[in-house]
Amino acid sequence: MTPKKKIAILGSTGSIGTQALEIAREQKERISIEVLTANSNADLLIAQAKEFNPNHVVIADESKYLQVKEALANDDIKVFAGSKSIAEVMEITSADTVLTAMVGYSGLLPTIKAIENKKRIALANKETLVVAGELITSLCLENKVNLIPVDSEHSAIFQCLVGEDLDTIDKIILTASGGPFRGKTRKDLANITKAQALKHPNWSMGAKITIDSATLMNKGLEVIEAKWLFGVKGSQIKAVVHPQSIIHSMVEFNDGSIKAQMGLPDMKLPIHYAFFFPERVKTEFKRMSFTETNTLTFEEPDQETFRNLFLAYEAMNKGGNMACILNAANEIAVDAFLQDKIGFLQIAELNEKCMNLVKYMANPTLNDYIETDTETRKIALSLL
Ligand code: NDP
Ligand code: MG
Repeated sequence: MTPKKKIAILGSTGSIGTQALEIAREQKERISIEVLTANSNADLLIAQAKEFNPNHVVIADESKYLQVKEALANDDIKVFAGSKSIAEVMEITSADTVLTAMVGYSGLLPTIKAIENKKRIALANKETLVVAGELITSLCLENKVNLIPVDSEHSAIFQCLVGEDLDTIDKIILTASGGPFRGKTRKDLANITKAQALKHPNWSMGAKITIDSATLMNKGLEVIEAKWLFGVKGSQIKAVVHPQSIIHSMVEFNDGSIKAQMGLPDMKLPIHYAFFFPERVKTEFKRMSFTETNTLTFEEPDQETFRNLFLAYEAMNKGGNMACILNAANEIAVDAFLQDKIGFLQIAELNEKCMNLVKYMANPTLNDYIETDTETRKIALSLL
C-alpha cells in the first residue's frame, strides 16, 4: 500500500476546497487531511474539521476564533485565527502537499511559506503566479519544489507535456469557454447585471472567478499563469474560444503535432490528478461520450469587447510589477461590480487606469509586490 498523501487545503470552504474534500472522502485510504483553512465561514470549517480531523485549522476572520475553538474543544485539533496564521501553519504542518485554493492575492504569502517549507504545491490560486510569477518560480527552483497546476487548462497542458522536452513547444493553445456573454457587443454589455454575469454556462465556481470568466480576465490571468508554469514566451501562448469546454487546452510542438487533453468540465479531475501525480488513479467520474458531444467549435476571442484579455497580454509583455497592478485593480473592480458600485464595462476601464497610474517597477522584490498591491488598491478605490 502506498503511503497516504498528507494534504493541506488552503481555502477548504470554497468551490475548489469542497471538491478537493469530496476527493478526500472518496479516497480515504490514500489521503489524509492535515490542515483546513477558511476566511469567515466558521460553520462549514467546523463541520469539515469534525469529518476530516486535521491537525490544524485556521480561520482568517479573528472574530470567529472563539466559535471555532469552542466547537472543536473536544477534538485533537489546534485552532488558529488571522491571515498571518495561514502562512505560519505552513512551517509546522506535516503535510507534504498544499492545495492553494484561496482567492486572489491572499494566496501569495501562504504559498511562499509553503514553498520555503518544501511542500509540493497543487496550485489552484492562479493569482499567486500572476502577481509574482518570477519570484515564485525561482523560489520553487531554489527549494526543489514542484508546482502542479490545478487550473483545468494548465492541468491539460501539463498532462500534454508529460514525457516531452519543453524546448520542443511551439505554441500553447489555451481554450476559453467565452463565458456567458460570448458574441455580445459593448452596447449589449453596458447594462448587464451581476446575476447575469454570475451564470457561467459550463462551470460552477466561486464568485470572483465567475466574474473574471465573464470579462475574459480569467483567460488573461491564465495566459500569464501559463507563461510562468511552462517557461514559454508570451508570444507562444494563444487563447482560443471553445464554447463546449471539452478540450481543456492543447500544445503544438515543433514538428506540427498537436496534443490535446479532453474530458467533461469537472474540476475534480484536475484536482485529483494534481494530488496523485505522477500516478494516475482510477475514479468513477462521469465519462465523456463523443457521440453525445459531437460538435467541437473554435473561434477567436473578441479582445476589443472583452478588453481585459488584451490588458493581460500588455501586462505580461511589460513584465515587472505590471501584472501585480492589473491583479490588484481587478480584485477591487470585481468587488465593486459585485456590490453594484460599477458597471460591467467599468471593470476593464478601472484596470487600465490603474495600469497607467501606479508606479511601474521593472525588477520588483517581494516587498515591492506587497507595496504595489497596497498602492494599487488605494488608487483603484479612489477612482470608484
Ligand atoms: P471560492 O470563493 O469558492 O473559495 C475561496 C476560499 O478561500 C474559501 O475557502 C474562502 O473562505 C477562502 N478565502 C477567500 N478569501 C480569503 C482570504 N482573504 N483569506 C483567507 N481565506 C480566504 O473560490 P474558488 O474555489 O472558486 O477559487 C479558489 C482559487 O482557485 C481562485 O484563485 C480561483 O481563481 C482558482 N480556480 C478556481 C476554479 C473553480 O472551478 N472554482 C477553477 C480554476 C482555478 P470563506 O468560505 O470563509 O469565504
Ligand atoms: Mg481555468
